[in-house]
Amino acid sequence: MKLIVIGAVAGGTSAAAKARRNDDNAEIVIYEKDKDISYSSCGLPYYIGGEVEDIDSLTPRDPAFFKKKYNIDVFHGHEVVKLDPNQKVVTVKKLSTGETFDDSYDKLVIATGATPFVPGVEGGEQEHVFVLRNVEHARKIRRFIDEKKPKRAVIAGTGFIGFEMLENVMAKDIEVTIVEKMSKITPNLDEDMASYLEDILKKKKITILKDTTITEIKSDKVVLADEQELSCDMIIMATGIKPNVKIAEDAGIDLGETGAIKVNKRMQTNLDEVYACGDCIETFSVITGKPVYRPLGSTANKTGRIAGDVLSGGKLQYRGNLGTSIYKIFDLTVASTGLSEKEAEELGYNTVTSHNIKPDKPAYFNGTEMCIKTIADRETERILGVQIVGREGVDKRIDVFVTLITYGAKVEELFHLDLAYAPPFSTTKDPIHYSGMILD
Ligand code: FAD
Repeated sequence: MKLIVIGAVAGGTSAAAKARRNDDNAEIVIYEKDKDISYSSCGLPYYIGGEVEDIDSLTPRDPAFFKKKYNIDVFHGHEVVKLDPNQKVVTVKKLSTGETFDDSYDKLVIATGATPFVPGVEGGEQEHVFVLRNVEHARKIRRFIDEKKPKRAVIAGTGFIGFEMLENVMAKDIEVTIVEKMSKITPNLDEDMASYLEDILKKKKITILKDTTITEIKSDKVVLADEQELSCDMIIMATGIKPNVKIAEDAGIDLGETGAIKVNKRMQTNLDEVYACGDCIETFSVITGKPVYRPLGSTANKTGRIAGDVLSGGKLQYRGNLGTSIYKIFDLTVASTGLSEKEAEELGYNTVTSHNIKPDKPAYFNGTEMCIKTIADRETERILGVQIVGREGVDKRIDVFVTLITYGAKVEELFHLDLAYAPPFSTTKDPIHYSGMILD
């Protein structure tokens, strides 16, 4: 069996490695158009801010590693430009020479990921305007900061990348203004939790401008839709991503309603022996079963492993996701899972919510407050979603909620959980217990 994989970051390498574990004899080839492979995108903001000193620690694996450990041939700097599913052939362009050649497969995995989505802005092509998706982008931003010593930056977008960049650019003594086109910050949070977070950030003197967009970028300033002008030396567009689906679409692969590649639970597309995984695919919600586009590294690794397993005879199936996300901004942690109140209402649920502000530990262990919003279905009492803004211990609470929601827990079950307690870790009644009591 010959397997070709397109894309060598999270989804593609997971698929290839799992296929090799299941099948010693397969010939496995990965084509990747960029230079860097199998890296941790999630660590890139921290390289820019200096917390990660050496970018090589984020790119620990190279083609030689894959050859030695898995007997997989990775060709970087090679772009797959066409897929012919009838002949089972991909056309590959070697980017250093421009030469093209065909390669045939028995099975194919499309793991082409996603690309930053940048709204058309006049002046957006200048060298002080950046996006952050891959290692080369991070190198460019860091080089610009080190060499040009910018004093002021504007970041567009208040998703997790916008906020992670805010913290890391500020770590370089650069003054930052963050601009959001919506009337509230951070897409995963409901209005109330977003304004709770915004108040804390404002107390930290972070400048947040909402309800506006960048319409023009000049060499030393940006112009906003409300005609305000902001002086700045660098701009980071953290305005979202879109799935890379062109090759798939051109070859007749079905896209789903979100615009990403449609796959079944076994990562199979509508074409025979063509699989897809990672940020280029549409997945589905554990709660509603409906299609969602939730491009995250956690899901890319999982769906990659499933694709690799299935194509080599395994039985894995994807079970959906809750869109769980977590990020750090300064001393704060922001996490969410499941449906927001707004999403739940749009889906027709009769929701009941609670907001519960409690310390993560006793005062004598320097406990700090966290705010937990719980969203439940009034009729079935099932927990639908949770959002948390706090300082310490948010990660463990959100993962408890993820587990509960995954297994369909009801609100009243929260109080009865036998959670671990000792003062260095939590309070006798944990914030999770209180969420159950408040919703009673
Ligand atoms: P990608 O990483 O996009 O890789 C796809 C690869 O395919 C690319 O290298 C691309 O060059 C290649 N490719 C595309 N087309 C072709 C072609 N035609 N021929 C050859 N090669 C091709 N997720 C989390 O879960 N938690 C986090 O904390 C988190 N933080 C993040 C922080 C940042 C700054 C960024 C950018 C992302 C973060 N993510 C995080 C998201 C996570 O990195 C992605 O979900 C993950 O990288 C997706 O992996 P992928 O392999 O599907 O796609």
